Amino acid sequence: MARYHIETYGCTSNRGESRQIERALREGGHHPVETPERADVAILNTCTVVEKTEHNMLRRAKELDEETPADLVVTGCMALAQGEQFEAADIDAEVLHWDDVPEHVRNGECPTPTPDAEPVLDGVVGILPIARGCTSDCSYCITKRATGKIDSPPIEENVEKARALVHAGAKEIRITGQDTGVYGMDDGERKLHRLLERICEEVDGEFQVRVGMANPKGVYGIREELAEVFASHDKLYNFLHIPVQSGSDDVLAEMRRQHTVSEYVDVVETFDAALEEWTLSTDFIVGFPTETDRDHEQSLALLRETRPEKVNVTRFSKRPGTDAADMKGLGGTLKKERSSEMVDVKMDIVAEAHESMVGTEREVLIVEDGTDESMVGYDRAYRQIAIPDAEREGVGLGDVVDVEVTGHSTVYALGDLL
Ligand code: SF4
Repeated sequence: MARYHIETYGCTSNRGESRQIERALREGGHHPVETPERADVAILNTCTVVEKTEHNMLRRAKELDEETPADLVVTGCMALAQGEQFEAADIDAEVLHWDDVPEHVRNGECPTPTPDAEPVLDGVVGILPIARGCTSDCSYCITKRATGKIDSPPIEENVEKARALVHAGAKEIRITGQDTGVYGMDDGERKLHRLLERICEEVDGEFQVRVGMANPKGVYGIREELAEVFASHDKLYNFLHIPVQSGSDDVLAEMRRQHTVSEYVDVVETFDAALEEWTLSTDFIVGFPTETDRDHEQSLALLRETRPEKVNVTRFSKRPGTDAADMKGLGGTLKKERSSEMVDVKMDIVAEAHESMVGTEREVLIVEDGTDESMVGYDRAYRQIAIPDAEREGVGLGDVVDVEVTGHSTVYALGDLL
């Protein structure tokens, strides 16, 4: 759990990007603070409209870097167009695309739901934390200290919370937790598949359910049952986020991740066999202290083999008080090189996936305002599709519309209303 401070400059569109970043951070359990002095991470969302603005951005980045204890993240238009200027000005900052900021703040750890683990309705998105804590003890994780062992309320209680969210207007329910795959383990058995089945069957209304992060080990034990529930219920987005973190069993052991590479691959193959179209999302931590060149090659190979369409690549950074913080770390340049290689492969996979969607027709649930008059939604496989002019055509949040995919950017597909 990090405390973040965000500063946004420039146009409405950039403010919209900051809202998306904040929503993802809040969903992950991170808390905003008013001043950078009190933050763990300071986020500067930049603008680059004229030269004077650039000077101001550089000056503000330098202040945040030198005068506050927070780690600095620079994003926005200047970061994307002239990111090298920050390094040239000797500013120690991570320069990132908007979409990569939340994952960077998460630092490879699991998300932390709201402190009281109560549901939150944000627009038409209902966030439903189904449990607190996890059954793991990852060597790099500080979240575990705050959340402790798994504590799962009964299925009935979570079904009732889902019902209340739908009643309050939720069209998409996001099931969250540190590790949704071990829900029920404190009661002696994994119950995620049963909970999902009951929400789909017992809660009336038009809504979709997205299952949040589940570690591969938790899912491995119920992979057949879970895949069957996904295949039988249209209300579930065909989407699974299982962070593998490395393609090397040696590194996974040092991370104390509990799963092996082959268990992760088994889960992927089970879902491939059960579902015609689904989205695999995973995370990799690059540059863990014990990661060798060979380990890194194994991660690249696993990425190419399983081809996840959504991949979060995080450069390892030490969290004080964790066991991994005591290990001798790798150099920053090496971590940067390995991270770039992973990101290049990731971008090829994502571009290929988007390209394969062009020309297809899809049903899309609208859940977010986009920039200008566009709106953003998700298809059944939880692929993000932006629809330009949607607002002008009278489309609103929570609507379900038919679109034809006409193109894509690096992060989402573009669709025209049918
Ligand atoms: S699964 Fe690992 S990374 Fe996630 S909260 Fe538990 S110990 Fe931390």
